[in-house]
Amino acid sequence: MGINNTLQLPLFFFKVSSLCQFDFCPKRSKIELFKQYAPFKFNMKGKRPMAIGNRLHYLFSYPLKNFDRVYLKAKLGNNRTFEKRVDNIVVRGRYDDLEVITIDNKKYTILLEVKTTSKKYIATFEIKAAIRQLQLYMWLMKEDLEKFGFPLWENGLLEIYSQRNGELLRRIPVYYDLNIEDWIRYVVECFKGLKAIRPPDRKICKFCPRRVKAVCSWYKARMRRGKDGYM
Ligand code: SF4
Repeated sequence: MGINNTLQLPLFFFKVSSLCQFDFCPKRSKIELFKQYAPFKFNMKGKRPMAIGNRLHYLFSYPLKNFDRVYLKAKLGNNRTFEKRVDNIVVRGRYDDLEVITIDNKKYTILLEVKTTSKKYIATFEIKAAIRQLQLYMWLMKEDLEKFGFPLWENGLLEIYSQRNGELLRRIPVYYDLNIEDWIRYVVECFKGLKAIRPPDRKICKFCPRRVKAVCSWYKARMRRGKDGYM
């Protein structure tokens, strides 16, 4: 696509947290990115895990409050939303946390994606989405980190903590995806109907937020077909 054509296209803004759902359910990603939801009332049950998650995020980041980390976070802009453009898509997101390490007298940044769970384990598809999320942040922030003299280390870290006792359940290294811009273009082609997309395994729908299920045509079709005992 020529640069002039690209510039004339309307811009779309994609949130990292919704875009990263694509690998396990393209429909969920599309709904979260484009759908105007009816006002959704969170009940206390829905709010609590989020509040616990935020509190744990803060606690887990405490041992990492060293000078370099605080300095770099301030340079980057605390609570800043990063954004980067591919064709007419602007991807935006706010990373969870970072750590600074020193190797051979040179400082590097390890980006962290922190997830908490009230379960004993976290499903594979949730891990995949979190890995993609971190890869997107790595891509979004790469140039800024280089500019401030703290380039990305070869991997970031996905950390999964228990909401019950704060135990670290898993720590997964996540590597930079050199093809991530092509992946974003591929996602857009799928959304436009130029590439085929497939519904996820029906078990995954159980984990989908109610507000997404309420507008999901795939879910409604499955419910109509209605297998006994299904959801
Ligand atoms: S209900 Fe199922 S098919 Fe629909 S968006 Fe959610 S996970 Fe995807």
